[in-house]
Amino acid sequence: PLADLADPSLLITDGLINGRWLKGRQRFDVLDPASGHKLADVADLGARETRTAIEAANAAWGPWRSKSAKERFAVLMRWYELLMQHQEDLARLMTAEQGKPLAEARAEVAYGASFVQWFAEEAKRVSGQTLATYDANKRYLVLKQPIGVCAAITPWNFPLAMITRKVAPALAAGCTVVIKPAELTPLTALAAAELAQRAGFPAGVVNVVTGTDAPAIGQALCESAVVRHLSFTGSTEVGRILMAQCAPTVKKLSLELGGNAPFIVFDDADLDSAVEGALASKYRNAGQTCVCANRLYVQDGVYEVFVKKLAARVKAMKVGNGFEEGVSVGPLIEPAALAKVDKHVKDALKKGARIVTGGKRLRGQFFEPTVLADASDKMLVAREETFGPLAPVFRFHTEQEAIAAANATEFGLASYFYARDVGRITRVSEQLEYGMVGINTGLISTEHVPFGGVKQSGLGREGSVHGIEEYLEIKYLCLADV
Ligand code: ADP
Repeated sequence: PLADLADPSLLITDGLINGRWLKGRQRFDVLDPASGHKLADVADLGARETRTAIEAANAAWGPWRSKSAKERFAVLMRWYELLMQHQEDLARLMTAEQGKPLAEARAEVAYGASFVQWFAEEAKRVSGQTLATYDANKRYLVLKQPIGVCAAITPWNFPLAMITRKVAPALAAGCTVVIKPAELTPLTALAAAELAQRAGFPAGVVNVVTGTDAPAIGQALCESAVVRHLSFTGSTEVGRILMAQCAPTVKKLSLELGGNAPFIVFDDADLDSAVEGALASKYRNAGQTCVCANRLYVQDGVYEVFVKKLAARVKAMKVGNGFEEGVSVGPLIEPAALAKVDKHVKDALKKGARIVTGGKRLRGQFFEPTVLADASDKMLVAREETFGPLAPVFRFHTEQEAIAAANATEFGLASYFYARDVGRITRVSEQLEYGMVGINTGLISTEHVPFGGVKQSGLGREGSVHGIEEYLEIKYLCLADV
């Protein structure tokens, strides 16, 4: 699938440290999840190279931070333009290594690039304050300064956007970065890094450490006193480990961890819109996003109709290789992901759920888009993020019951509900314990909104005017007139 890149020099397989590509002593295979075939072998770097990358980022920090905001804006804008110029090649690399349908990959490139554009613009809007006079002889000033060398550890489900959402605000703020992309999807990350080089970031400002020993690379990033900020998107388990490992150096953390998104459909909802929203939220990236609807709660009066309408649409979805025309559900990322979906389906069936459509593994790493009715809170699907194309539909009677069920989880990332009564919309929005609420929509992400979770779904917000604050320190100056 990578033979026909318009720019074959974007197929990069070495790590990037201090502006130089590093082969490494060992290599690891990157596989195509649709076929299981090898796509490329990539530099398998470890703790030693991570330390070199941190040193390079530290050396590059002074000059980068000293550039004017407008100079940083210009380099980021060039990077944005290059990402968009190479949208098709980046999308092909992404579909090849990650599996998502090509149309979704193109959309992710645009979404990923939009963070670079947004934070290029935000670079020019970092402003401090002059405070009120408390003492006629003193002036009180507040500066915003870049925090320092930043580390970004990113997952495989959005191979580009999870990188740019962290790296663009860091670079805009005047920080330098060491990126550890997911070992399953390093090719998109490396192509984006190559475009960053072409855009003109000085050597050492952007570094990429590829490798399979994530704990060793993570440890090196966490224990470094030079690294002042760690941003991580991935599982809550790994997030907890990283948080503990960052305690000795009191690092600032941004964590975007697991979700368990409820999707509630009330009696007064526009049912066809709710079905559209559920499809978009549940089956995008074959259910492998942290904001995917994980639990569908549908009120009594519309339960059967909703399940029927949803199942009809799900049944019509084409499963297959993401490069094939018309495919809307690609392969899952790895065999373990299939095993989890399978386990959730079997557990639900044992506890009284019924299959409305789907329910089976297909050849290779594909799973049938599935709808299960009569789900209950005893099932694994109620507690764990499935991260696959499985929609369990729960039945509820009252508004309070739905809110309580939706909140009965340690997670608090995205939530969704469909209703038209304005009083209900207000009540439910305010009571959902989530960082994000989609009301009458299943798609909520753009670069200009604050993305993030509460409870054990994470810390901090990415995107929007808030996203850059994670990478800025406040310094207070008290200036006396003597
Ligand atoms: P996912 O379920 O999305 O694979 P993970 O949390 O396992 O989530 O992976 C997200 C990222 O975290 C990947 O880049 C992975 O290599 C990395 N990772 C996994 N374990 C560790 C660890 N112990 N320390 C640092 N990074 C890790």
